Amino acid sequence: MTTLQTIHCPNCGSYAERHQINDISRTQCPRCDYLMVMCNRTGRVIEAHAPGLDSSIRLTEPVTRHRRSPLQPASALA
Ligand SMILES: [Zn+2]
Repeated sequence: MTTLQTIHCPNCGSYAERHQINDISRTQCPRCDYLMVMCNRTGRVIEAHAPGLDSSIRLTEPVTRHRRSPLQPASALA
């Protein structure tokens, strides 16, 4: 089963396409050449490419959204 979604590119904010092919999610942006291929079942990133970022995505680690830790000490802000 294949579905196609139009989403906002997480890299440049333009419109990108997300293809769902069985357990594989493939997100690609024609504007900035962003690419993310991920297994929905395991959450593992199979292939990732995000131009314009100063550090490339490490394929050995799952890509998660950056979260602000509520446990961050207030002294870090001072
Ligand atoms: Zn993009």
